[in-house]
Amino acid sequence: MNHLKHLDWPFFEDRHRALASELDAWCAKHLAHGAVDHEDVDASCKALVKALGAGGWLTHAVAGEGEAIDTRAICLLRETLARHDGLADFAFAMQGLGSGAISLMGTPAQREAYLPRVARGEALAAFALSEPEAGSDVAAMQCAAREDGDHYVLDGQKTWISNGGIADFYVVFARTGEAPGSRGISAFIVDAGLPGFEIAERIDVIAPHPLATLRFTRCRVPKSAMVGAPGEGFKVAMRTLDVFRTSVAAAALGFARRALEEGLSQSKERAMFGATLADLPLTQAKLADMACTVDSSALLVYRAAWERDQGRTITREAAMAKLMATEGAQRVIDAAVQLHGGRGVRRGEIVESLYREIRALRIYEGASEVQQLIIGRDLLKNG
Ligand SMILES: Cc1cc2nc3c(=O)[nH]c(=O)nc-3n(C[C@H](O)[C@H](O)[C@H](O)COP(=O)(O)OP(=O)(O)OC[C@H]3O[C@@H](n4cnc5c(N)ncnc54)[C@H](O)[C@@H]3O)c2cc1C
Repeated sequence: MNHLKHLDWPFFEDRHRALASELDAWCAKHLAHGAVDHEDVDASCKALVKALGAGGWLTHAVAGEGEAIDTRAICLLRETLARHDGLADFAFAMQGLGSGAISLMGTPAQREAYLPRVARGEALAAFALSEPEAGSDVAAMQCAAREDGDHYVLDGQKTWISNGGIADFYVVFARTGEAPGSRGISAFIVDAGLPGFEIAERIDVIAPHPLATLRFTRCRVPKSAMVGAPGEGFKVAMRTLDVFRTSVAAAALGFARRALEEGLSQSKERAMFGATLADLPLTQAKLADMACTVDSSALLVYRAAWERDQGRTITREAAMAKLMATEGAQRVIDAAVQLHGGRGVRRGEIVESLYREIRALRIYEGASEVQQLIIGRDLLKNG
């Protein structure tokens, strides 16, 4: 199966084709099954960020002054990394998501202080929006930032923060109260060592990644650390998510593509009823469904990425890509597990880890129901 065939599609330019092929070769060398330790995820993520930085891949996670973020490149990178290793994809994604606000709306001084280190893999980034009582309902945010001279004073909590505990800096969203609801939120860069900032709890999940609850207690952040204007935090968050939501879909696509590959080889190899699993018509139907889902997800992902790179608003397209690619990948991976029989649920099998990896993608950066709402409302408003 040629997993790079879609690079012929007209969505891509030659630089994208070269990028994806080169990364695929890099991954085959550095991310073979078993090469990344998924037990000590803190150490693995730090090492992966260093390796991705040394390989030059993280330059695509940030945008230089006056440059646009290349959404197609980010999606190809995430698809390729996810196909090889979920933690490698996570390490790349967090460098982008955590620094995205600075790339998109940071001041020259903020860009200079953070982006080169992110791109070299010398500083780990995190994006801190969710709270215990404000997940899907972002406007219910309680973490507050009070103005005090040249500083803002942060009090409150953030939870489910990826890279929490190992990040060097966090882009934190807090209520500054310029207006009610989502219009009274601002974004701040908080360095990990700042007094009043602590890791309240580390969180263990079914596909382990560094994840934590953060606590701010009279944490003084200089005004120069605000990203965007006061009250613009929601806009900062949504602009960042507009780029990275499509890339979550790309990661799901990478997982699904790997599951299809594993399902195909298992079907051909497994002897059964005097033939192979692949000879059974029900297997062929299953494989057909898997392939259709992979291709339709890929079309939605790269349609959204291409449209964004043309400068268009992609709220609906990104939501469609995320909804279909993550839900579809769950089905494709489940089918691959089924094709593997007992082996499919054995720890250490590739399809078993994919089964765990995919689940959270249907929840974070907007759960599937939130994507449905976005699409439905956009249809009703814009036709
Ligand atoms: C592994 C992982 C990593 C994460 N990383 C980060 C991170 O780096 N930074 C960060 O800020 N956050 C992060 N999150 C948090 C994530 O964004 C939230 O979990 C997500 O927004 C859902 O919020 P919640 O968990 O509070 O669920 P809730 O908001 O309580 O939602 C629960 C469920 O309600 C349903 N639902 C939601 N809205 C609607 C609706 N309008 N109509 C019908 N049903 C609905 C959905 O099925 C949803 O799953 C991460 C989460 C996970 C699991």
